[in-house]
Amino acid sequence: MIIQNIPIQSLKGIGPAKSKLFHKLGIKTVENLLYHYPRGYKDKSIITDIRDLLPEYLYTIRATVDAKPLEIRSKKGVLVIKLAVSDETGGINIVWFNNRFIKNNIKQGDELFFYGKVKQMGKDLVMESPEFEKTASSASVNLLRIVPEYPLTEGLTHKDIRKAVFNALELTAGKLTDIFPEDFRKRYQLSEINFCVNNLHFPETMFNMKLAVKRFKFEELFILQSGLIHIKRMYSIEEHGIVFKEYDERAFLHKLPFQLTNAQLKVVEEIFIDMEKNKPMNRLVQGDVGSGKTIVALLAMYKCTRNGFQSLMMVPTEILAEQHYLTFKCLLEGTGIRIELLKGSMSAKEKNAVLQRVNNHEADIIIGTHALIQDKVEFAKVGLVITDEQHRFGVRQRTALSDKGSNPDIMVMTATPIPRTLTLIFYGDLDVSLIDELPPGRKKIETYFIDSSKKERFYDFVKKELDQGRQAYFVCPLVEESEKLELNSATKYRDELQNKYFKGYNVGLLHGKMKADEKNLIMEDMRQGKIHILVATTVIEVGVNIPNATIMAIENADRFGLAQLHQLRGRVGRGEHQSYCILVSDTDSKIAVERLKYMTKSENGFDIAEKDLELRGAGEVLGQKQHGLPELKIADILNDTALLKLSRDAVEYLYDSGKLDEPEYQRMKKELDARFNRILEEIALN
Ligand code: ADP
Ligand code: MG
Repeated sequence: MIIQNIPIQSLKGIGPAKSKLFHKLGIKTVENLLYHYPRGYKDKSIITDIRDLLPEYLYTIRATVDAKPLEIRSKKGVLVIKLAVSDETGGINIVWFNNRFIKNNIKQGDELFFYGKVKQMGKDLVMESPEFEKTASSASVNLLRIVPEYPLTEGLTHKDIRKAVFNALELTAGKLTDIFPEDFRKRYQLSEINFCVNNLHFPETMFNMKLAVKRFKFEELFILQSGLIHIKRMYSIEEHGIVFKEYDERAFLHKLPFQLTNAQLKVVEEIFIDMEKNKPMNRLVQGDVGSGKTIVALLAMYKCTRNGFQSLMMVPTEILAEQHYLTFKCLLEGTGIRIELLKGSMSAKEKNAVLQRVNNHEADIIIGTHALIQDKVEFAKVGLVITDEQHRFGVRQRTALSDKGSNPDIMVMTATPIPRTLTLIFYGDLDVSLIDELPPGRKKIETYFIDSSKKERFYDFVKKELDQGRQAYFVCPLVEESEKLELNSATKYRDELQNKYFKGYNVGLLHGKMKADEKNLIMEDMRQGKIHILVATTVIEVGVNIPNATIMAIENADRFGLAQLHQLRGRVGRGEHQSYCILVSDTDSKIAVERLKYMTKSENGFDIAEKDLELRGAGEVLGQKQHGLPELKIADILNDTALLKLSRDAVEYLYDSGKLDEPEYQRMKKELDARFNRILEEIALN
């Protein structure tokens, strides 16, 4: 058996009960244990003389027990165990609280190591509740060294894990084979695996620990990226894609109500080149809110249709599906292209009729929600698969959709502004096109941050806009994770606006709990201008396009992430009129204020995303598993950008140089595949 695969039960001191707890942490094998990264370290390696102790610091001392432990009951009823100890330089009292059993382990005359915090107690110093161990005990794992601390689970202590790791290290000592061959390690200045596991868990020095951590971070990023590149290269050698023919779309372009921007033209060109190739397209189109991704998608679908294939477009909400359907229907008028809408909320009869047409190739473009990837949906001849607002779908859904055809071209669109460096990680398996320009004539959306004392003045301003024929969105305060509460607050908020401040106007309500039909009716009324103010929960966040709406007001704006605020703000400023975004918040959190102020200054999605990361951290911004990739365990994509780049270079070097086919790289190749497959499994479970 390969040493790494030994189950942890075989380690000394781990029985069935303990091993269950380890399983909870995802640790089943010795290798899992060795890759259970410490979350921090305590340096307990230096022994300090008792006379040098200062209050409020942590120390290790080596001392002899001068007298039997004393038991004292304090006035408040706390049981204090007091122990006088000394070394050659002085003496100190050690105290424990409510821990009678301590006494059983300590005798007068024992020489012990103590590690704990020194406190001032009256005139004297004491050491409080220290860990301790006999000086004679061999190879301590808990004291007198740099000691690791781990992510825990209930029932497992640092001591349990340290002991297990220590035994695992003893078992594997010097026997681990490195997946990185020596010349590769030299090239990227990586330390050897046996050195690294030792110094990751029980570092000899902090410097060695850093070398070990660097290697494991590199390894983690390297495996992820090599897997992604591997997928990408697999697509690119695949020679069985559909070769779409050129089609003269000038007449169609001419009919559009506007001219494409240069950025749109450039991206359309990139897409067309992909489509005409022998291998399937696999492209991400990234563009800030309002940059005009929809029309780019339509052009790709147009070309696909003219080649006699069907196009699918999957979107995250029914509102968006409906909207795209209406837009496309209008733009495609007179072309003879048949378009269908498939929604989860349709009656069985309607759905069957649509499916029938889709299956008989009586439909050319099919727009829908998740309903599209269900098993029973069968298409006649799929050539192109597009997902809009891709950040809402995981990698898995993407592949499920492409399984609906045989090697169709794939295109995903997102407005989620992911900082450039991170695109590699999140979309490492895709080619990326960027629409980096907004359509001309867009006015800057004036953004204001106010507290609720200014609300009435703001309402007056809204009335003026409404009186000029414009419309407004009011996004409800976010309430706790309960849909019912959210609904209550949304309804109350709407009624208050309608009955108190906006009597002569029509205030509508849109929330996630409504039936799809109701939502569509409301959106239709909004589109036709029958609703003046639409109060909504965040269901309107993605994609909604009503150019006549010029005001976006967001209550409790501090509760939203910056990227989300940017998405919401993107719902206005879509037409010729000056638009406004009002962020209402009474927060006194400094960071929240800084974030909201930033919104008033910046209108660039990428800058905003970067600021969001900086202020809230990657965990919160990206940890929502929306991206469908596993969370990194040791590397930190924000702070480890240098390693991210280094590992990316390494991956490219390996693939480009053909090294991966050399004999000494075979182990690495196998191991990379195995580990990446485990990552994919993890994704599938999410
Ligand atoms: P997003 O990239 O956020 O999906 P949309 O595709 O919804 O943006 O486009 C936003 C708005 O801009 C729509 O009203 C669309 O008709 C309009 N639009 C798109 N491209 C252009 C263009 N080249 N010139 C003028 N308006 C455009
Ligand atoms: Mg869109």
